[in-house]
Amino acid sequence: MKEASALIPVTAEKAIIAKIEHEAHTSINHCYQCGKCSAGCPVAFAMDYPPRQIIRLLQLDLVDEALRADSIWICASCETCSARCPRNVDIASLMDALRREALAEGLVTDKKVAAFNEGFLGGVKRFGRSFEAGILLYHNLKTGQLFKDMELGLPMMKRGKIELMPHRIKGSQEVQAIFERTAQMGGE
Ligand code: SF4
Ligand code: SF4
Repeated sequence: MKEASALIPVTAEKAIIAKIEHEAHTSINHCYQCGKCSAGCPVAFAMDYPPRQIIRLLQLDLVDEALRADSIWICASCETCSARCPRNVDIASLMDALRREALAEGLVTDKKVAAFNEGFLGGVKRFGRSFEAGILLYHNLKTGQLFKDMELGLPMMKRGKIELMPHRIKGSQEVQAIFERTAQMGGE
């Protein structure tokens, strides 16, 4: 179990779970804990709580535990779990909603993950696609490790695997409009 400082009160936890379910358009109560989601998850081995256990935490109102889990940031949004679930629980969307809530509540335990997330989304918002060199620079500046992974990044740049300058895609304005609409709806 993670450190239980500043735990969210139970009534507030129920409200947050209802919000997360609403945002994910799914219900945690449909889950009967068969474990098919965890069995198919390609990154479950690296998670502190595999997908099935994340759902169980929510069923037990332990939303604080779920929001502080590394799992929600390790999740690659591949949607295998949602596709395999015999009860149609959209776990991938729940993971997404949990990430948004953790950011909104300032419950991100790993600042490096948050910096990566911000760098990635910032690039997509500006250019309509991910800009790897920008993510690297943003992440390293935000985490105070300016030269982190430079021994890997520089050769990749030399070989043209990572572009130094960003390229804006044709539909970048439409992508920006999606971000604006999301912000109007209360998203990040
Ligand atoms: S596959 Fe569906 S029903 Fe089975 S444990 Fe995962 S969420 Fe629950
Ligand atoms: S969406 Fe996330 S939790 Fe689900 S299988 Fe993919 S990586 Fe695992």
